[in-house]
Amino acid sequence: MQGSAQQNVELQTIVSRKACSMCEIEKPLSPEFYHRSSSSKSGFQHKCKDCCKKWHSDRKQEMSKSRSEYRYKNREAINKQKREHHHKNKERLNKQRKPP
Ligand SMILES: [Zn+2]
Repeated sequence: MQGSAQQNVELQTIVSRKACSMCEIEKPLSPEFYHRSSSSKSGFQHKCKDCCKKWHSDRKQEMSKSRSEYRYKNREAINKQKREHHHKNKERLNKQRKPP
């Protein structure tokens, strides 16, 4: 059974390996480790699946963080605007209501 074992080794070496662009760990270029990408030359993405997952979750966190920050800042600005608008309006209304 030595022959079949050798064949297995050969099959393993045929699968080309590719270093992930993020973690730089060399992984077999297969759908098991890399997402497929039709736009890339190798047919797989440059990032390994693990890094893709990490990247997406990081981005999600960043997005939700910046979004809530934006909302918070915006809320402050909107409140200020409303107050000023209300204040100005009040003044104007008061002037209009001047007795003749
Ligand atoms: Zn990686």
